[in-house]
Amino acid sequence: MGARVVIVGGGLAGAEAAFQVATRGGEAVLYEMKPGRRSPAHTLDTLAELVCSNSLKSNDIGTASGLLKAEMRKMNSVVLAVAEETSVPAGGTLAVDREAFSKGITGRLEEAGVEIIREEVTTVPSDNPVVIATGPLTSDAFAASINEHIGTENLYFFDAVAPIVYAESINTEKTYMASRYDKGPADYLNCPMNTEQYEAFVAELLAADSVVPHEFESTPYFEGCMPVEELAERGPDTLMFGPMRPVGLNDPRTGRRPHAVVQLRRENSEGTLFNMVGFQTRLKFSEQKRIFSMIPGLESVEFARLGKLHRNTYIDSPRLLTKFQRLSAEPRLFFAGQITGVEGYVESSLSGLLAGINAFRVASGIEPCLVPPPESISGSLMRYISGDKSDADGAGTGNFQPMNANFGLLSAPSIRNKKERRAKQVELALERTESWVNENLASR
Ligand SMILES: Cc1cc2nc3c(=O)[nH]c(=O)nc-3n(C[C@H](O)[C@H](O)[C@H](O)COP(=O)(O)OP(=O)(O)OC[C@H]3O[C@@H](n4cnc5c(N)ncnc54)[C@H](O)[C@@H]3O)c2cc1C
Repeated sequence: MGARVVIVGGGLAGAEAAFQVATRGGEAVLYEMKPGRRSPAHTLDTLAELVCSNSLKSNDIGTASGLLKAEMRKMNSVVLAVAEETSVPAGGTLAVDREAFSKGITGRLEEAGVEIIREEVTTVPSDNPVVIATGPLTSDAFAASINEHIGTENLYFFDAVAPIVYAESINTEKTYMASRYDKGPADYLNCPMNTEQYEAFVAELLAADSVVPHEFESTPYFEGCMPVEELAERGPDTLMFGPMRPVGLNDPRTGRRPHAVVQLRRENSEGTLFNMVGFQTRLKFSEQKRIFSMIPGLESVEFARLGKLHRNTYIDSPRLLTKFQRLSAEPRLFFAGQITGVEGYVESSLSGLLAGINAFRVASGIEPCLVPPPESISGSLMRYISGDKSDADGAGTGNFQPMNANFGLLSAPSIRNKKERRAKQVELALERTESWVNENLASR
């Protein structure tokens, strides 16, 4: 038998990882707890189940998700191959027949010779290597065992995600950089509001539609990550004493303190993305776009990620993982999929694909591990997730939030016109991915 890799979790990431191992001639052993035990969201018996929407987002390479898919096709992704075979008409979106898709993946894994063991894994296996891909709803016993390997403070069970916007889409004529009481460098971009603007904003928040949480997600909020709309419910001034507190943030253009302020903080070192500080929310995506564009400076803002609040098991990857998704402190362990803090079906599949390739290499004694080039969406996402700009461990922020594929992760060529700049980024990403695949994946 070939190199042996144990994979825990037969979701999108685990299935993709197992396929990559098996097609390279490795012995892939995949543990999946269904049907004996199910998470509150999984219902099918087959693998790679899409738990909610049946959409894998846009196929247009001008979008981050479309570009990611184009890169993954070059890497021989089984998830994308089966998604195309089982697609349903949805315009430029890749949407699938959920059951046919899940059945198709299961069939492809069986054909490839993956050994599928239907049981819940309750302790991290002692094999070398192991890929942990148990997803956002990892079973409790296994989560407890993961804790023993990474430390309790590094495993999170809830997402409280604030929106992230593209820096270039902010109207900086209406905003100003400042830190509270001018302490330290002026790192925050402040969007000032007068009384009228604040009151109109709060009124819209109160009237807005929220996402109804699943029953298993009705965990009480932590005080520190209360959704903005909940804060608004507590009283007309609550936001002004919370995330929209204006004290110590005088507007340099007027010399006066605004009535309220929305603060944005740089999300990446390139400064292409800004995070809306304290704006975690359960508002529907359409409502977020409508209401947050009332904020001065954000009238035409483009969102790289919208806010969310949901149950999600994930680890502090920037602190723990290398860009190869290996645990720095115990490199036989790979993590893959949503548990690493990537967000979304396609991103999770990518993460599984790369973990599978690298776990196979480790099992076969082939060094070094591989990561796609930084000019690609896939390579930049892996670097973001691991906080890794080099081969060393990520720095770790202690405040890590999951991330999806977006153009803000790529460094921007110095072309003024946005359309031309994106086109150049896409061209470069595809070209570099192609060469990387030819150099590294062509034979294995
Ligand atoms: C309610 C809900 C709705 C979502 N909706 C969307 C959406 O619409 N679009 C989107 O892009 N993303 C959505 N997501 C995120 C989505 O879960 C991920 O994008 C994707 O499924 C993650 O892939 P994964 O392989 O990491 O995890 P999963 O696909 O969840 O796979 C993990 C697998 O591991 C198994 N498992 C867990 N613990 C064990 C154990 N101890 N032993 C053995 N097997 C185990 C599970 O049964 C499961 O099959 C949603 C998540 C949730 C929870």
